Parts: sequence; C-alpha cells; structure tokens
Amino acid sequence: MTEIAHYINGAHVAGTSGRSQDVFNPATGEAEKTVALASTAEIDKAVAVAKEAWQEWSKTPPLRRARILDRFKMILWDRADQMAEAISAEHGKTHDDALGEVTRGLEVVEFATGAPHLLKGEFTENVGTGVDSHSVRQPLGVVAGITPFNFPAMVPMWMFPVALACGNTFVLKPSERDPSASLLMAEWLTEAGLPAGVFNVVQGDKEAVDALLNNPDVKAISFVGSTPIAKYIYTTGTANGKRVQALGGAKNHMVIMPDADLDMAVNALMGAAFGSAGERCMAISVAVPVTDAVADALVEKLVPKIEALKIGPASDKASDMGPLVTKQHLEKVRGYIDSGEAEGAKVVVDGRTFRQDKQGYENGYYIGGTLFDHVTPDMKIYREEIFGPALSMVRRPDYQSAIDLIHSHEYANGTAVFTRDGDVARAFSQDIEVGMVGINVPIPVPMAFHSFGGWKASIFGDHHMHGMEGVRFFTRLKTTTTRWPSGQRTDPEFTMPTLG
Ligand code: NAD
Repeated sequence: MTEIAHYINGAHVAGTSGRSQDVFNPATGEAEKTVALASTAEIDKAVAVAKEAWQEWSKTPPLRRARILDRFKMILWDRADQMAEAISAEHGKTHDDALGEVTRGLEVVEFATGAPHLLKGEFTENVGTGVDSHSVRQPLGVVAGITPFNFPAMVPMWMFPVALACGNTFVLKPSERDPSASLLMAEWLTEAGLPAGVFNVVQGDKEAVDALLNNPDVKAISFVGSTPIAKYIYTTGTANGKRVQALGGAKNHMVIMPDADLDMAVNALMGAAFGSAGERCMAISVAVPVTDAVADALVEKLVPKIEALKIGPASDKASDMGPLVTKQHLEKVRGYIDSGEAEGAKVVVDGRTFRQDKQGYENGYYIGGTLFDHVTPDMKIYREEIFGPALSMVRRPDYQSAIDLIHSHEYANGTAVFTRDGDVARAFSQDIEVGMVGINVPIPVPMAFHSFGGWKASIFGDHHMHGMEGVRFFTRLKTTTTRWPSGQRTDPEFTMPTLG
C-alpha cells in the first residue's frame, strides 16, 4: 500500500512517527493507501522550516508573490481533472462535484493574485501640520491551516493563497481521511516557483493538531471542521496567544413561502440537500415550508425526485451523488435516521433501504436520499448536524414562526428563503441572524472576493475566510506617523497631542 506522507521544505518526506492509518476508497470500501500521522517532533520540524523561510518570503515584493500564485492557478486550471480524481478517490464525491470544488478554491487563488492591491495600505497627508501618517498590513509569520474531509482542496485554498499572498509561510494539516489533494497542491506550488519551506504539509490527527496549538512559533490558526473541535481549537489556540478563526458545523434552513416558485424551490432543495451526499457545511438539511399546503405540495414533488436519485461511484458519470466518506460515518448517518423514526418523524423516503448492486462497489459506503416530514425542534435529527443525504421538513404556519425556528437553533452558518415577495426577501436578509443568506439561492457560498463564515456556534473567532476578511486575518496593522525636520518645529509638549 502507498503511504501518503508529508511535504516539508519543498520535498516529500516520509513519516518517522511509526504511526499511520488506512485511507479508504469509499466507493469500494477498500483500504488502498495509508497516511502517516505526524509526531510532535515532525510538526515542530515543519514549523521551524516555515519560520526560516518566512525571513525571505515576508520581504519578497507582493507582486512577485502574486506571480507565483498566478502560475499555480494556471497549473491548477490545466490539471483540474487530476485534482478532481484525487479528491473523488478518497472522498467519494462525483467528478463534476469535485471539479466544482477545485474551481471554487481556484477562485481564491485568483483573488490572492491581487496581493499588491490588497496590501496597498492607507496614507494621510497632514494628520497634523507637517506630519503624515500611513498604515500597512504586515504578515504574521508562520500560520497553520487545519482542514476537514469534505473539501480537501477547496477549504485549504480558502486559507493558504491569501496567507501566502500576504507574506506568511504556511503549515497545512489536512484531514487524515482524504489527504492526497494536499500533496498535489504542495507539488504544484513548488512547480510554480514557490520557495522551499513557504508551504508545508503535515499529515496527522489530534497529536499533530495539538503540536500546532502548542508551538509558540505558530502565530495564527485557521480551522474548519465540526463545532466541538472548532471550539477546542479556538479556546486552546487563543489561550496560547494565537490568532484563531475556527469555523464549525451547520444546520441550514430553507424557508419556502407560499408565493415561491415551487419547481425552482424543489430543484434547489434536491441539489442543496443531496449534492455531495449532504456532506457540505452549506447543505440545506432543513426545509421550512410556510403553511401545510406548501408542505404537501413540496412532498409530492420531492418524493419521486429523491427516489430517482442515481447513487454510485464517481467513475460513473451518471451518478448524482456518491458514497459517504467512511464506514463509521455511514453508520452514524443510518443511526440518525433510526433515531428520527424512533422519535416520531415521518420517514417519507427511507435511504436505508438503498443497496448498491454495481459490480465491485457492493461494499462501498452508499446510502439513499432520505426525506423526513413532521420533524419537530426537540428531535435529535433537527438539533444535530447529520452531514448526510437526509432532509428534514419542519412545517411552520407563517413567516414569523419560520424565523423564530431558525433563530432558536444553535448553528447559524447559511440559510435561504424562496419567495417572489421583495418585502419578505428584504426583511429576511436584514433580520435573520445567520452569516450567509440566500434569496432564491439555496447554497449562498460567497465568492472569493467576499468572505465566507457563519455566526453563533458555526464560528469561533472574529474573521471570516478569504476576501478582505482573509487579508485582515492573515496580517497585522501597523501605523507610522512621520515628521521631518523641515516640518513645524515646536518646544517639548507634555500633553496629549491634538490637532488643536
Ligand atoms: P472534524 O472536526 O472531525 O475534523 C476537522 C479537522 O480537525 C481534521 O483535520 C481533523 O484531523 C482534526 N481533528 C479531528 N478531531 C480532533 C481532535 N479531537 N482534536 C484535534 N483535532 C481534531 O471535521 P470533519 O468530519 O473532517 O468535517 C466535517 C465537519 O466540518 C462538519 O461539521 C461540517 O459542517 C464542518 N465544516 C464546516 C465548514 C464551515 O465553513 N463552517 C466547512 C466545511 C466543513
């Protein structure tokens, strides 16, 4: 079996910890590779290398940094298929879905190639007579990214293009469940001309994460994953004096108003609930039809579409969705469906009955799409993130009770309303306490030049990812006030200077 290991100082490095774990192909259920799990010593080595590389990289003109990222972007365009195949082989998502992920990541690289403009700073002439002031944003040093399994290329690319463009050096700790994409990105960055040590990858689990959290030379940590771990990373990282942005889990509601275009809403729900087998932090997992009439009509239209979902391996072009990522995750999702049924939700379509009969794929981690109706807010399937292809319907009699429902949930990552009423849409967008909002858009993932992030238990920290928020996260502000001898001369002043 191939061992997937680390990339440090511009080269592949074998693991030395003696610890590793299997990496499965979710489409077949077979372990085809292993991944090295870094020890604290290996993490410390990678951080030391990144610290050394920072000396020069931080002083490299932003335009030169941007040009390297631009070459990386072109390589990524050319080899998007190769990257997508690597993602599908370990994550299980369909090829087109993986290509979409690569494109969304690439767009952040595109954004980061604007580094000279993004880092331009501010200048004010004559803040006082003969006194000027300018503000610049400077890099932090070595920064780390810790990423989840569900977007093994896109989520790292939410982070490192901006971090590198701003002059930081980077240590990535990807998910141990689908680690290969990280090494492709590292190789291609080197090929694009990135100096050795500026971008490093260490594979690992909790030990590697804790080593990053405890290493004083790591100045900031960007994390995306589940809420309990996000909270742990935030509290430990900030207690250790680091800057931390930690994005967590989600439970995204889509409100369907009586005046909505129902066919549009149904198609949106299908893609948003079942695309990528529901393993998206922006997946819609709760449909909130306003009035029973809307709910009944939705069920009638959704059922045949869910039953017709084509579930298969990424290699089959016809697949709408692939398997779940691991056997444990498959069991967890099945457990949620059992619990929903036991708690009294109506199982309108039961994904547990799906059997994969394609030859060679019978042991893959497949499950069909599930639709629950008459879900209530006290049920476990409503309160917790299932992260699988299961859509819960919570009926509400009017707009206000739909809003109250969304506000009562601990997560607040994304949400959407489907309506033709401009007043409703405007009120929703203005009042809803959720970080990312769609108006007739089911998965409102902001583009690279805006910023991505939720509210409440979906984020710990103050900065969202990429866009200007990313630039702010990966830099610190310095303001210099300047007076030259030819400027106004004064006697010593002992009071707080003011313009007078
Ligand atoms: P996860 O929290 O299990 O793992 C994320 C990272 O944390 C991985 O690199 C993993 O190795 C590490 N990790 C896991 N357990 C740890 C521990 N005990 N101590 C230290 N580090 C640990 O998440 P996942 O299952 O890989 O990803 C799915 C989750 O990520 C979902 O909850 C999903 O909503 C969330 N997610 C959120 C966003 C967002 O932008 N808010 C985006 C994508 C995914």
